[in-house]
Amino acid sequence: MKNQFFIVSPQLLALANEAEQRAADAFARIEANEHYNGQKVLSAFINNHISAAHLSGTTGYGYDDRGRDTLDRVFAQIFGCEDALVRHNFMSGTHALTTALFGVLRPGDVMVSLTGKPYDTLEEVIGIRGQGGGSLKDWGVSYRQVELKEDGTLDADACITACKGAKMAYLQRSRGYSLRPSVTVTEIGELCSRIKAENPDIIFMVDNCYGEFVEQKEPTDVGADLIVGSLIKNPGGGIAKTGGYIAGRADLITLCANRLSSPGVGREVGCSLDELRSLYLGIYLAPTVTAAALKTAVFAASLLELMGYQVYPRAMEERTDIITGICLGSPEKLVRFCQGIQSASPIDAFALPEPWDMPGYDSQVIMAAGAFTMGASIELSADAPMREPYAVWLQGGLTYPTGKMGILSAVQRMLSQEQTAL
Ligand SMILES: *Cc1c(COP(=O)(O)O)cnc(C)c1O
Repeated sequence: MKNQFFIVSPQLLALANEAEQRAADAFARIEANEHYNGQKVLSAFINNHISAAHLSGTTGYGYDDRGRDTLDRVFAQIFGCEDALVRHNFMSGTHALTTALFGVLRPGDVMVSLTGKPYDTLEEVIGIRGQGGGSLKDWGVSYRQVELKEDGTLDADACITACKGAKMAYLQRSRGYSLRPSVTVTEIGELCSRIKAENPDIIFMVDNCYGEFVEQKEPTDVGADLIVGSLIKNPGGGIAKTGGYIAGRADLITLCANRLSSPGVGREVGCSLDELRSLYLGIYLAPTVTAAALKTAVFAASLLELMGYQVYPRAMEERTDIITGICLGSPEKLVRFCQGIQSASPIDAFALPEPWDMPGYDSQVIMAAGAFTMGASIELSADAPMREPYAVWLQGGLTYPTGKMGILSAVQRMLSQEQTAL
């Protein structure tokens, strides 16, 4: 690759070419899923007779908001389930997850996490951390978690035992800020049927953040009762300005709608303002944008593997989310890597990220993101909690050419630090 616009050393460019060549098979798999999912989304638009009228929203109470209600049906068809609640009113993924948990759980119920400790921001929601803030624990919902096995995979037998008498089984598909493997849709389906064989009434809920459109199936296609995600990640296609979704069984979605607004009023209210066009365009683009993020991820994994770093998942491994964890091994490298991502971003490239105390997280975090949508992690971004093993988590990339350049910039900046250190 000849590079006219950025300073990248010839050695790094040569390595980048090699990294891309050895990723050819993984790229082909990503493209096959992009085609499948792109057509799945298109058919949901056509089946639901989307017209220009659906793209303009309502104000005030939002009664009879056709665009909003039809978008729910479009998502339900895409996710192969009965119903969905897609709202710009969800402030974040955590808010959508919280709405679902409080929507369906009642005092005395037991919730079981099947994938060990959940995502950091969920700890205070569940009540693992903090007290008196209105967590599920404060409301009398008990919680237990099944640890992952030594190798980071699901402990199916322990899950089945722990779910006896429980109201909800909770599974996090993506690795989040951990180095465990993410859970594939096939694995989710197998575990779900085994748990339901013993406890047919259990509600199987999946935190689907970062997973949408990475595979051809979603957890709802293989037995999950509820899936939840953020619209500033995969299903917003880089276009949604905010929001989240909950999809799954119709009776549960009604409860979630009651929690989001009010019992009795439920999904009938909630005006869509001017957000509908972005939400429709976002889901339409989502399979292709997710594919760009995946190619960026595979390129990064392939390049850093060639450089001798441990990456999770490895470049050639099958993926079920868009996250790549890279063990850089030192705080200096973390900071330099993130600064390199930032300096090749379309927005705020001139800013220099530094570690800070982010609300909801229990160690300092450094984040690089120069995004059109603030905090959107479907756009190229890197986050790293400042703790052992000094791993950076990388995700996003709206287009592959810009995502690839971001990775090259990060590596170049990290290397120049290594050289200065010598
Ligand atoms: C992003 C994410 C969430 C929700 O985080 P928000 O920042 O609140 O949107 C929850 N779980 C996982 C695995 C995530 O990646």
